[in-house]
Amino acid sequence: MLEKRSADLHSEEKVEGKHEKHGKESFSQQYRCGPLLGSGGFGSVFSGQRLSDGLQVAIKQICSDRVQQWARLPGELGPVPMEIALLQRLNEAGGHGGVIRMLDWFEVEGRGFLLVMERPPQSQDLFDFITERGALPERLALRFFRQLVETLRFVHAHGVVHRDMKDENVVVDTRTLEVKIIDFGSGALLKDAAYDEFEGTRVYSPPEWVQNRTYRAVPLTVWSLGVLLFDMVCGDIPFERDQEIVEATPFFTRRVSKECQALVRWCLSLRPEDRPSLEDILSHPWMDGGEEEEEEEEERGSLPSSSL
Ligand code: ADP
Ligand code: MG
Repeated sequence: MLEKRSADLHSEEKVEGKHEKHGKESFSQQYRCGPLLGSGGFGSVFSGQRLSDGLQVAIKQICSDRVQQWARLPGELGPVPMEIALLQRLNEAGGHGGVIRMLDWFEVEGRGFLLVMERPPQSQDLFDFITERGALPERLALRFFRQLVETLRFVHAHGVVHRDMKDENVVVDTRTLEVKIIDFGSGALLKDAAYDEFEGTRVYSPPEWVQNRTYRAVPLTVWSLGVLLFDMVCGDIPFERDQEIVEATPFFTRRVSKECQALVRWCLSLRPEDRPSLEDILSHPWMDGGEEEEEEEEERGSLPSSSL
């Protein structure tokens, strides 16, 4: 089944996209498609390789009939999925180490789009990472969380809101412990006004969406970060049912430091206006922890062993 799907890509007789129009090579001349990496709401993602230099890539097949939001790109005749437009925008802003880089995209006539992204060599999504290892030590959770919050500041600063922050949409480079945000398929252009549509994940969505079908970008993002931080330190998400979301009272199933609990609870404030901003999160006392510990460790490491 998996092979058949990737074989389909090769046997595509006519791959039409921007490259065809500009007379460049088509998808199948430039990339080789490998096994399935994962599939979710918008299509399937395969691992692959760029033929010119062997670069490891991920190839996302986006089916047109599942795309909720479309956008226009300058120089393109037809609309493209919002996901492509948002990644393009972030690339044009210079990119960020914490956002997966889009390398290329193609339109496949009558079927949809192919999005080619970078793929860290030894990567695992954060859902699988947590499933394999269970709850993360707070220091590691902090390391991931800080990167994610800083990356989201960049994303927001360039006019994009992700709207589907969750463990499955974060890729961990297991060698460097760097994390990258993937899957802008539920994202939108950032605006100050309230949104009244949402295609993200219910169990990560805030009470104002569940109750009133409306939300603003930053409080939505911060709520989902609260769910994600809880998930990292407890090994599972805090709420499953709508009723639990609107009660907004997480129950910690593991020993978690007071500071960390306080930050989770602040992000999961019932009223959106009571939640921290991304900057508030970064200056929360729990966020200092890792650096201090690292410094302490360095100091300890530099002492002669006899004094330890
Ligand atoms: P969907 O919109 O269907 O949820 P995603 O873009 O989230 O699709 O990709 C589905 C899964 O594929 C992810 O959860 C992840 O496991 C894997 N994946 C996607 N992009 C990459 C990538 N660039 N590098 C490594 N794994 C990826
Ligand atoms: Mg996804």
